[in-house]
Amino acid sequence: MQVFNLGSINLDHVYRVGRLPAPGETVAARSLSTGLGGKGANQSVAVARAGARVCHIGAVGPDGDWAVARLEGFGVDCGYVARLSTVTGHAVIMVDDGAENSILIHPGANRALGADWVAEALAAAQPGDALLTQNETSAGIEAAALARARGMHVIHTAAPFDAAALRDLLPHLTLLVLNALEAEQMQAALGCGLADLGVPEVIVTRGAEGADWHLFAQAEVIRVPAFPVRAVDTTGAGDTFAGYLVAGLAQGLTRAQAARRAAAASAIAVCRAGAAEAIPAGAEVDAFLA
Ligand code: ATP
Repeated sequence: MQVFNLGSINLDHVYRVGRLPAPGETVAARSLSTGLGGKGANQSVAVARAGARVCHIGAVGPDGDWAVARLEGFGVDCGYVARLSTVTGHAVIMVDDGAENSILIHPGANRALGADWVAEALAAAQPGDALLTQNETSAGIEAAALARARGMHVIHTAAPFDAAALRDLLPHLTLLVLNALEAEQMQAALGCGLADLGVPEVIVTRGAEGADWHLFAQAEVIRVPAFPVRAVDTTGAGDTFAGYLVAGLAQGLTRAQAARRAAAASAIAVCRAGAAEAIPAGAEVDAFLA
């Protein structure tokens, strides 16, 4: 089973500041570090690190070569990363001395991706392959509809949360992954419980409290305990979990096995700083589980 991931690619600019600027105020940064970011890119890295094949469908601008090279360095197939004239998506992240942050995201090329490009990328997909999406690109609904019509698994992680976008996607999904806050927001916005969404399977992740995988047709819930670790940076925990989970299913693991490996990978990731760079390799995860 091949994994296709329609996802964002960002350049993250992380500025260390003494304190976050108030409205109208200017502050000087002490340092700048630039790295690969975007939920889509993080999830593709997680799938590849887990040892599964992943074709990333996305877009960068003229300034995006570095990000593509970085993704390829992690083993992600970037044959369907379009080069557009729009600037590459980027995030300006300010972190103060108390580890409080303030983040501005410019979607850029991520939201300029056309449905035709996605259809071309999915032309090679087979029934039983998986499409993974998040809510940081354009063409998500077209991609999900096409993938479902072709008999693919369609897995969506609903971040950043947008009730209207999610409502339109629901009929096309085979598995929805939400964190606890998104699950609350969704139930409030749609006025119904998880079982009434029309999606056959829903996973709710709860940070250090683990996750629950609801299988509605079987009236079964798979409990996925988190591993007790001392977390230093939980950025990207959800992306690591989702990428490893989909990779595990693509590799033929059972749901319980795939979820356990995903929980172990994200437990290792939260013990390290960073997002994509913090995602462990499959061998490390297997050693952790041994
Ligand atoms: P983020 O937005 O920070 O990427 P998220 O809110 O989407 O994350 P979480 O529910 O925080 O996702 O975490 C996903 C999974 O990662 C959890 O189900 C758990 O297995 C693992 N995890 C997260 N935080 C911890 C932690 N502190 N200790 C151990 N495992 C963790």
